[in-house]
Amino acid sequence: MAINFREIGHKTGWVEVICGVMFSGKSEELIRRIKRATIAKQKVQVFKPDIDNRYDPLFVNSHSGIKVQALSIKQDAKILDYIDPDTNVVAIDEIQFFSQDIIQDIEKIAGMGIRVILAGLDLDFKGQPFGIMPQILCIAEYVDKLHAICVKCTSPATRTQRLINDQPARYEDPIILVGASESYEPRCRDCHIILVKEMQLA
Ligand SMILES: [Zn+2]
Repeated sequence: MAINFREIGHKTGWVEVICGVMFSGKSEELIRRIKRATIAKQKVQVFKPDIDNRYDPLFVNSHSGIKVQALSIKQDAKILDYIDPDTNVVAIDEIQFFSQDIIQDIEKIAGMGIRVILAGLDLDFKGQPFGIMPQILCIAEYVDKLHAICVKCTSPATRTQRLINDQPARYEDPIILVGASESYEPRCRDCHIILVKEMQLA
């Protein structure tokens, strides 16, 4: 990944985003960057929304099993209040779940000379921009968009297919569905299916 210059050429803070579909390795890439900064003896603070308890509330985990310690904070938390004065790097996973207010905090943190690394889903299961991601992508100095492999046709996957009881989810299904038997898989634009009301009635 072409990120050589950002770690050595800056005299200021900046924002970098790792975005993409589920199963594209976003958390793994975030963890890789955190570990590299840690090896360079930089102070890194890692955050995640308290909604994400996939594996463990205290860690950022990748699907492949590697993990780093993280602080779970509320989606509307004032993240600026958590930043220590001697921090060099702030990393936030699942940034798409945070509220709009985090954007001005991110700008302030980068303005303090801190490297800010954000990882998040760019599109929801409908294939539409996820929450604050459009603004996040615009304020960032660097954006890396990762792809997975479509489970249907092996093209590069840019969409997250949501399945409820093994069937494609309907357009009007809520983005966060608690307690349902659901799963997700990476698909390309052509293989991504969203059921809309008209189709169900036909
Ligand atoms: Zn496909």
